[in-house]
Amino acid sequence: SPVFRARKLSKTYRMGEVEVHALRDVDLDIIEGEFVVLLGPSGSGKSTLLNILGGLDSPTSGDAQWRDHQLVGAGDAELTRYRREHVGFVFQFYNLIPSLTVLENVQLVTEIADRPLDPLEVLKLVGLERRIDHFPSQLSGGEQQRVAVARAIVKSPDVLLCDEPTGALDYETGKVVLAAIARANEQLGTTTIVITHNAAIAGMADRVLRLGGGRIVGETRNPRRLSAE
Ligand code: ADP
Ligand code: ADP
Repeated sequence: SPVFRARKLSKTYRMGEVEVHALRDVDLDIIEGEFVVLLGPSGSGKSTLLNILGGLDSPTSGDAQWRDHQLVGAGDAELTRYRREHVGFVFQFYNLIPSLTVLENVQLVTEIADRPLDPLEVLKLVGLERRIDHFPSQLSGGEQQRVAVARAIVKSPDVLLCDEPTGALDYETGKVVLAAIARANEQLGTTTIVITHNAAIAGMADRVLRLGGGRIVGETRNPRRLSAE
């Protein structure tokens, strides 16, 4: 059975006289451990969909479930708990704490997590074992983003949601960050959804969903990854 199940998910913003349809009747199932990429032009609804699945936003109508938890209509306290216990987020900007080292930035999360992983192991997974005592300002953008990935996965979330993690990075650097996310998905089995424009992702994901005008307008499965299951 799917981990995420969305049915007729719609989100409409009313701006005075104008209605903006951010999502229109989206149906989506995502299975445990799947690595899904959302592609599509700016304004096509990618962030809105990701935010609803992450319990950061709610739709105007429709239904979304994570396992047997309703995400639509859940109260703030319930959604906060869902995010804290089950979801790791990575955004375009890294938001690391500048006065803490790489290791300390990641360790901080383990103090409030129920079942944290070893920060050193996680930093190794993203290829930063030689940077643990550096401060964020001493790192490149790609390295800082890999710290943000480590920070998101060290609490061993069930779901990793990344909204344009490569948005501030050049193509090659973005590819390294995506490879670190793909490795985390593979080794930890974390269900992963990534919004990115970086074309290198096509070969790393199980499935690429293309959004347009608030709908899913295309879907590609990666046979290499599927056959490896
Ligand atoms: P994407 O992530 O694909 O760029 P979004 O999900 O951010 O798309 O946005 C989808 C549509 O919803 C866009 O037309 C956007 O302008 C609109 N939108 C998003 N958030 C708001 C908001 N808070 N108020 C009004 N319109 C919004
Ligand atoms: P807290 O009480 O710890 O602030 P939140 O519910 O605000 O709890 O946050 C839970 C998780 O969701 C955190 O990992 C946080 O980074 C993320 N989060 C919540 N709201 C936003 C937001 N608007 N933008 C980015 N991340 C957010």
